[in-house]
Amino acid sequence: MTYVYRFGGGVSDGGKGDRNLLGGKGANLAEMASIGLPVPPGFTISTDFCAVYYDEGGQFPQGLRDEVATGIAHIEGVTGKRFGNAADPLLVSVRSGARASMPGMMDTVLNLGLNDQTVEGLATTSGDARFAWDSYRRFIQMYSDVVLELDHDAFEEALEIAKEDRGYFLDTDLTADDLRTLVAEYKALVEKQWGKPFPQDVHDQLWGAVGAVFGSWQSERAKVYRRLNDIPASWGTAVNIQAMVFGNMGDTSATGVAFTRDPAKGDRAYYGEFLINAQGEDVVAGIRTPQYLTTAAREAAGAKPLSMEEAMPVVFAELAKVFDLLETHYRDMQDIEFTVQQGKLWMLQTRSGKRTAKAALKIAVDMAEEGLITREEAVQRIDPAALDQLLHPTLDPKAPRDVLTKGLPASPGAASGQAVFDSDTAEKRANAGDSVILIRTETSPEDIHGMHAARGILTARGGMTSHAAVVARGMGRPCVSGAGSISIDAKAGVMKVGDRTIREGDLVTIDGTTGEVMAGEVPTVQPELSGDFAALMVWADGVRRLKVRANAETPLDAKVAREFGAEGIGLCRTEHMFFDAQRITDVRQMILAEDEAGRRTALDKLLPAQRSDFVQLFEVMAGLPVTIRLLDPPLHEFLPHQEAEFAEVARSAGIDIDVLKRRAAELHEFNPMLGHRGCRLGVTYPEIYEMQARAIFEAAIEVAVKSGAAPIPEVMIPLVGTARELELMKAVVDKAAEAVFADKGQRIEYLVGTMIELPRACLMAGEIAEIGEFFSFGTNDLTQTTLGVSRDDAARFLTTYVERGIYARDPFVSLDVEGVGQLIGMAAERGRAARPGIKLGICGEHGGDPASIAFCEATGLDYVSASPYRVPIARLAAAQAAL
Ligand code: PEP
Ligand code: MG
Repeated sequence: MTYVYRFGGGVSDGGKGDRNLLGGKGANLAEMASIGLPVPPGFTISTDFCAVYYDEGGQFPQGLRDEVATGIAHIEGVTGKRFGNAADPLLVSVRSGARASMPGMMDTVLNLGLNDQTVEGLATTSGDARFAWDSYRRFIQMYSDVVLELDHDAFEEALEIAKEDRGYFLDTDLTADDLRTLVAEYKALVEKQWGKPFPQDVHDQLWGAVGAVFGSWQSERAKVYRRLNDIPASWGTAVNIQAMVFGNMGDTSATGVAFTRDPAKGDRAYYGEFLINAQGEDVVAGIRTPQYLTTAAREAAGAKPLSMEEAMPVVFAELAKVFDLLETHYRDMQDIEFTVQQGKLWMLQTRSGKRTAKAALKIAVDMAEEGLITREEAVQRIDPAALDQLLHPTLDPKAPRDVLTKGLPASPGAASGQAVFDSDTAEKRANAGDSVILIRTETSPEDIHGMHAARGILTARGGMTSHAAVVARGMGRPCVSGAGSISIDAKAGVMKVGDRTIREGDLVTIDGTTGEVMAGEVPTVQPELSGDFAALMVWADGVRRLKVRANAETPLDAKVAREFGAEGIGLCRTEHMFFDAQRITDVRQMILAEDEAGRRTALDKLLPAQRSDFVQLFEVMAGLPVTIRLLDPPLHEFLPHQEAEFAEVARSAGIDIDVLKRRAAELHEFNPMLGHRGCRLGVTYPEIYEMQARAIFEAAIEVAVKSGAAPIPEVMIPLVGTARELELMKAVVDKAAEAVFADKGQRIEYLVGTMIELPRACLMAGEIAEIGEFFSFGTNDLTQTTLGVSRDDAARFLTTYVERGIYARDPFVSLDVEGVGQLIGMAAERGRAARPGIKLGICGEHGGDPASIAFCEATGLDYVSASPYRVPIARLAAAQAAL
């Protein structure tokens, strides 16, 4: 067969290696079936067909129809039931399953195969008319929503009215006859909204559902999810069709979801939730609050309803064995869905479980220590970007908290922001620069953009595996779920907790680690980096070749960077030292001076300040290399704008304000990023670079004398395009060095090198390397100049470019390896040919991006330099790149 792969009943056409073809769900169902686990029989229509489906404009060719008939025959053979048979009908589920897990993003239809005849057969064979009619009711509701795309609320309303009319509280109070009446109402609703009766032909039902699942690959929410998670649209989804098993056949039936370890903290304990007499979607949808799986978890939470371990000890023991088997088989923490039908356990899904960064670290380190995986594998297991979650602040334990209520600690970390009650508002306010907390009764996949925009998420309903919890953990957003004591009126924009009222825009804080919800903003503290984090970093450092430095100017940033493991400074942007309130006046005086003498007067004032900056930096980075870049930005960035600023510069320089203004107008540039900046400043005003070089060498000697260990400054010239520029600037630096050495009677070692951030510099790298002693790739400017895209104006169109697949990712975030990468490769090669062993690094934003770091490893650079908070990410990414 071409597109259909069977599983169950002793057959497995695929296995876990077929993820690309069968999607994660299909591949793992086949794998579980092949290792003898109880999997309801079924088949997968491969992802290959997804492309065909779109190419054929949503048609199903005869070949596929024949294959699906064979697949159905396989299920019929194993179950002994027949699809559409009125006496003993086969019911199936139809589910999506892409290569990468996209929880809740695509469509599912359950109980398919029910119609006015088969429902009677189901009632007879199950001996439970209520169950049969409830299944039919659920099927019509789900099918109408997912396949027919009718108004979902109308069905919910009919259900609520049916209960209210009869004075019932729970869905389960409805009797078989009540449900039969409700089904009639549902069918009338379908006919009214759709203009046709609900489809009675089970094959029509099947093809409708298959089409809907393939169609959901291009739904808005799936597109958003793919964009946020870098999943290419070309992958497509598979469709899984599988015999139904029922968790809603009375009190010996149940359905649940479980993790083989705690996905929030990583502890080695089964973790999950289940519901007795319920169907799968009930747990995830957060409609009823589920019960704990283990007694230990129930007791820890102080909850009353029996755990699965207590309520169904025999099945639980069997399940626990399956958990262990799956974890050993897959060598990773698994996220599992199961159903118990009248005492018999069925496995519906297994996959690598999503987990918080904290849990990922603990699980990787524990598994390496348990011998389940190697240390190298442990290093490979951690997504470097996820470390971000750990490196950011948590609530200050000493700060007072105005606790409103407590929910479940669904995704760790703390966040404060304005309360908002719907996702569109969350996105709008976040785009306007506000921090927001999204508060919903429960979230659904339609909330994905709001959850992404929010700093944190709070829900009134739903457990630890609810949509909100799973998605928040995946996104690294703190989340408190199931805070049952809050009631939300989203339309009115208020939330009530006891006698307290929170309105839209009020500040609230959530702590996803404890589940606390607080009024107001609570201060935060830096996290401690020890334990599993430290252990894994040591393993990572053991395998990486690339050195990791930090981009830092202030002693504080430098300290943070060192604590995070930076091995030096790769870029100190000296202009950042000039924005200080006092210094800016001197800088402006320097820029606006009419002649060299005027500039030197101002520079003399700046020298001591600059020198003391460098002393502090050298002290923090004792024993490590420090790369200092001489002044780079266009002068216009420093120009005064307001009258008062002009007045102040005029006073301090003793110049007429009108002269100053005329000079400022002269300095105006049309395209400053390509204008009077970088080494062009040094070429036209060498005294600026001379002062900076002097400050560097005086500071280095001062620290050498004080500490006995001389730092090795690496003086870096920006925006070089020709060897001659570098030659001239190096002469200025060397001359300043000699002057300082003569003055102090002491010499120190130093290097003079250049940034490579213009295409011409890449082309001429051989000549440039004859003068420069090191290269540091300034990939921000190199991207800007190679792509001809302004780094300051790109945001307006780059999102569209990424959406339309013109660039796979934002090239200012992740290096354009194909294009800019070629230039870097060429420059590295030419540089090395001219000066064997020349030191090569990168200091653009890409130095902290894992994919770009992999490129740097492949190109054989010596180091990457990243912002302080990204240093651990870079260390881990460098290790992974080396493995
Ligand atoms: C660069 O261009 O990549 C760089 C590091 O310099 P800046 O961002 O300061 O222009
Ligand atoms: Mg630059």
